[in-house]
Amino acid sequence: MAYELERKTAVTAAIKASRLCQAVQHSLVSEQTMAKKDRSPVTVADFGAQALVSADLLAAFPDDPVVGEEDAGHLRTDEGAVLRDHVVTQVNTVVSGRGADEILAAIDRCTYQGGPTGRHWALDPIDGTKGFLRGDQYAVALALIEDGEPVLGVLGCPNLPLDWSDPDGPAGCLFVAVKGQGTMLLALDGSVERPVQVSAIEDAAAASFVESVESGHSSHGDAARMAELLGVQAAPVRIDSQCKYAAVARGDAAIYLRLPTRKDYEEKIWDHAAGWVVVREAGGQVTDVHGRALDFSIGRTLRDNKGVIASNGPLHDRIVDAARQVLGLGQEPVG
Ligand code: AMP
Ligand code: MG
Repeated sequence: MAYELERKTAVTAAIKASRLCQAVQHSLVSEQTMAKKDRSPVTVADFGAQALVSADLLAAFPDDPVVGEEDAGHLRTDEGAVLRDHVVTQVNTVVSGRGADEILAAIDRCTYQGGPTGRHWALDPIDGTKGFLRGDQYAVALALIEDGEPVLGVLGCPNLPLDWSDPDGPAGCLFVAVKGQGTMLLALDGSVERPVQVSAIEDAAAASFVESVESGHSSHGDAARMAELLGVQAAPVRIDSQCKYAAVARGDAAIYLRLPTRKDYEEKIWDHAAGWVVVREAGGQVTDVHGRALDFSIGRTLRDNKGVIASNGPLHDRIVDAARQVLGLGQEPVG
């Protein structure tokens, strides 16, 4: 099978990073840190997860560059020493014998600028940091991009229920998709492994949709207007992170809307590349609000796209049409 080693490496790395995030969420995120809006737990987990994934990628594919959000500059300063010690401790709860230098070097490997040729990885060690801090949903997101196209995506979703209809049941999912090979759901504890597919519904009235919890990341008002136009009956389900792509891939929701809140915001490739493969390989569609393909080939951002619409497929054109009406889009893209 194509990409066998890449798949195995990415899944193993995402499981390790998910374990670290779970440990940090359990030990460091408390009512006190939440009340103080203290972001230090997510900072520790962000750096730790990036170090774990980057080190595994380096060992398996030493020539592959990585695009990631964090660099270790602050951790190398005197003010960053306490944070650095926390990161080193947390990394060594998942793997053993990693020194600070090795960990900082792994974090610093993720500064690649992306681009149209060759292959590189895109990593968001904790997507949905606000969800992480609330004790809600977040994801470890890792994708392999080849000549500008994501060909492999992994989403580790430590708090996502294995069964969407049983929100209090067992949680901890990992979705992995490889170009041409479909999307699989694995339980993080290894107890489940099965293919997933998008919902088959064609009637928008029966569709459910997901959007960001944060209204600063996606316009809730425009989404409500689009839902009304489409005749969607159900209230939106708000979840943080690329777990929204996972929900569409598994058929839990038929629509994911990410509607611009600012004209100048450029979506980041690490916020979408893994989710894009996971939805497409499960049979769904992903475009921007104009209905244009997402262009992962131009660097660290999707600067030629605006917003994101992911769907099960049959509903897609109607959703893009609703976006055109609600957002007042002409045929030509607005800047
Ligand atoms: P979500 O959990 O889906 O709301 O998205 C989390 C991601 O939103 C973060 O990883 C940020 O990179 C990204 N983000 C930050 N500001 C914005 C914005 N103004 N519009 C869209 N996404 C944003
Ligand atoms: Mg993110």
